[in-house]
Amino acid sequence: MDNTLNYKNSLKELIRKIDAGERISEDDAAMLFSCNDLLLLGALADKLRDGRVGDVVTFVGNYHICYSNICKNNCRYCIFKRDPQDADAFTLTLDEIEELAAESKKNEVPEILILGGIHPGLSLDFFIDALHRIKKRVVDVNILGFSPVEIDYFSKTENISVDEVLLQLKQAGICAITGGGAEIFAPRIRKILGCEDKISGDRWLDIMRQAHLLGIYSNASMLYGAGETYTERVEHLAQIRRLQDETGSFTHFLPFAFTQKGYPAATGYDDIKMIAISRIFLDNFKHIRAYWSHLGLAGAQIALSFGADDLNGLKQKGRIIHSSGGGSPKLVQRQRMIDIIKDAGRIPAERDILFNIIKVYK
Ligand code: SF4
Repeated sequence: MDNTLNYKNSLKELIRKIDAGERISEDDAAMLFSCNDLLLLGALADKLRDGRVGDVVTFVGNYHICYSNICKNNCRYCIFKRDPQDADAFTLTLDEIEELAAESKKNEVPEILILGGIHPGLSLDFFIDALHRIKKRVVDVNILGFSPVEIDYFSKTENISVDEVLLQLKQAGICAITGGGAEIFAPRIRKILGCEDKISGDRWLDIMRQAHLLGIYSNASMLYGAGETYTERVEHLAQIRRLQDETGSFTHFLPFAFTQKGYPAATGYDDIKMIAISRIFLDNFKHIRAYWSHLGLAGAQIALSFGADDLNGLKQKGRIIHSSGGGSPKLVQRQRMIDIIKDAGRIPAERDILFNIIKVYK
């Protein structure tokens, strides 16, 4: 039997497996990455999406509080980070954070996202105070914030365990932590990205495990398009899937492309393929997010037919993600989001941080 026939037979068996809802192996996922039939991948992923979540496509009304752009790290792709002496460096005071929290109330958002750099001058106590002040102003809001990178940093600088950091954040009001710092777990690529100052992939997974065991949710993500091999992508996805098997506390998965100027941009084809393969391989994830801020609204809308079922948030205020080169709009109006979802033949619904549905737009 020649190689082409072998490949066709293997692909046929793989399609049968996916169609039957069986878990696929890492080798299977590698085969999907080498498959150029995007419509086939889309059809398989879309069927799985339909079975797992139906036609509802979610988004969240959220409000971002960016406390500082000062960061001690030097990730090569980041153009958000500033050094303390830079003219445009800023750090909010606790009063300013509280004012922003009060402002968020006018927007009636169910979620506040706290974000910023790894600020060498801000202690864990500062953030605990900030959380208390936010909660004082907006009692019924879910707060999302702090990635394993920050949690690792607090653990080291405060000389306390990761568990203790997480417990303090939880007691102060954190509902979920962010998936920041996962990038792609392959050490070779982390070196290329210049994020050696950040934690390793193993450390990221350990901290996520601890958070989940303490009842704190999080998302999982993967940065692609930075020169990694398909094998490295699959290894990353496999580690995420294994942890989700253990804890079940990842709320959703978000693949996003490396978009820094000067590097080859990820293609639309690759973006859509990543969404489809994420849906197929991550059989223990209910939600796959198409990040409109990266894919553009048009790309995100198309991704809805390739396995995605969530479009993330409406409010975008000075995100780190834009500072890595994304060129999409920073804010989308609620009605525009609803129109985009309806135009794709799906049912728009606003959700909270844990994907509880707040309002369906028929
Ligand atoms: S990506 Fe995050 S950790 Fe890295 S330099 Fe930028 S703000 Fe700092």
